[in-house]
Amino acid sequence: MVGAGPNGLAAAIKLATHDIDVTLVESRSSTGGGLRSSRPFRSGSLVDDCSGFHPLAMASPFFTSLEQRGIGLATVGVEFAHPAVVVGHPLDDGDGGILLRSVVETAERLGPDATTWRRVFEPLADNVDAMLNLALRPLTAAHPKDFVAARAFVIRAAMPANAISLLFRTSRARALLSGISAHTLSPLWWPLSAAGGLLLATVGQTYGWPVVVGGSGSIARGLSRIATELGVTIITDQRIDRLADVEKLAGVDTGRGDLVFLDTSPRAALGIVDGRQRRADAAAYRRFRHGPGAFKVDFDLRGDIPWTNPELASAGTVHLGGTWREVSGAEISVWRGCVSEQPYVLLGQQYVADPQRLGRVGGDLTRPVWTYAHVPHGSSKDALPALLRQVERFAPGFQDLIVDMRVRTPADLEDGNANYVGGDIGGGANDALQLIRRPKAFSPYATGVAGVFLCSASTPPGGGVHGMGGYNAVDAALREGRREGGVRRLCGPTRAPYRC
Ligand SMILES: Cc1cc2nc3c(=O)[nH]c(=O)nc-3n(C[C@H](O)[C@H](O)[C@H](O)COP(=O)(O)OP(=O)(O)OC[C@H]3O[C@@H](n4cnc5c(N)ncnc54)[C@H](O)[C@@H]3O)c2cc1C
Repeated sequence: MVGAGPNGLAAAIKLATHDIDVTLVESRSSTGGGLRSSRPFRSGSLVDDCSGFHPLAMASPFFTSLEQRGIGLATVGVEFAHPAVVVGHPLDDGDGGILLRSVVETAERLGPDATTWRRVFEPLADNVDAMLNLALRPLTAAHPKDFVAARAFVIRAAMPANAISLLFRTSRARALLSGISAHTLSPLWWPLSAAGGLLLATVGQTYGWPVVVGGSGSIARGLSRIATELGVTIITDQRIDRLADVEKLAGVDTGRGDLVFLDTSPRAALGIVDGRQRRADAAAYRRFRHGPGAFKVDFDLRGDIPWTNPELASAGTVHLGGTWREVSGAEISVWRGCVSEQPYVLLGQQYVADPQRLGRVGGDLTRPVWTYAHVPHGSSKDALPALLRQVERFAPGFQDLIVDMRVRTPADLEDGNANYVGGDIGGGANDALQLIRRPKAFSPYATGVAGVFLCSASTPPGGGVHGMGGYNAVDAALREGRREGGVRRLCGPTRAPYRC
């Protein structure tokens, strides 16, 4: 297993639960990939370095399968905490949309749009697990029954996100949905662009968008502990550039039928398999497109954010982008290669649900605030002024509270994790084509080299902490082994006969 992000850890755990010997190799000094937290400020406040909110770590089939086996995150001390308000989306007049952990409560706050909101989301919330089962697996492998079970989602998800937003009459409901849809970093007029927003909004109104007590790195530590207890060997500080490195390090021999899983970008995978792929597979990897980047800024503040709308004080996530039209325009401009003057900004106040993240300077408490702006792929332009402008627009006086800050450009993000190509934090562009062809429409996990599989966020279902890239890739590998009637051979050295 190359790479110890959530997908790599999920694949390693799933293989180990099948009694297969696993060696997990990670280039950094600790496991986690996008699941990391640190104390970068002199106050000691705790910041999530990448992923901050974990709706899918509560709801994905990988994490629920751990619960069912009695080895869930709770057993290794991982605790989730829910902010009172899931998402806030302020508007200039001090009004705005608020997402709560129930469709009815969210709808009640939307006045004239209450009925339409319930019509859109109640059928989704009633079938949230069917929706997740469909959306978190490769579309081309779904059974017709899965589409029927999740039909309310299928019908809505096929539309552009803006078409769903325009079902509402008030600017607050429209902005609320477009802010959530913009998480996918794709133009909101594209077909299928509604899928991500509907999924995230529904999960928010059912499972919530919790933070991890003690920082998102706790999930990585928890998963690593589960993996180690299942017998997985973890090697850190070891970058893999060629299959030969894996063969040398872990005694793996793909020629003899051992398996290699790559939690890497398709570009890195191309280098690792080094010309051994079939031409069509290599072409699919070369064709793979990465999406826009993130310009990440963490702040340490010596007071609460002075929101114009006081309800935002208890929101975990706040979307700063203004009206649906402005959010949509900002997303189009990053795709055109411009840093918008009014970018879409995500802001996280994890400390409202997890007060142990607060720091201290002298006798005063400081609050760590997590933000990033969407910027063009690989952009080197300084987006800090535009990001600050967008925060000040809804919280005048914010800048006066800054004690410390840490800025990471798209290039810095890629330096920290090779998978964030050009600052793309989602593992690849979420356009309609790549929702299906990620990086290939059929057998998306098979690299085309016998026994070598891709399992990162560049495979279905894409970005996010859900572990489903790894989970699905292992299913695909075991299915392939079964088809060839040589699972034991394909799985390589096993501790016990493999049981399907
Ligand atoms: C700023 C930011 C905010 C985010 N916010 C959220 C959020 O709130 N909620 C959410 O669900 N998701 C969020 N995400 C996305 C989420 O973190 C990723 O989608 C997820 O981590 C992808 O998991 P992965 O296992 O595919 O890859 P990664 O987490 O990227 O892990 C890949 C691992 O493989 C290692 N690696 C790569 N190449 C090699 C190699 N050649 N040899 C050895 N090791 C290698 C890397 O060092 C890394 O540890 C965010 C990401 C970022 C950056």
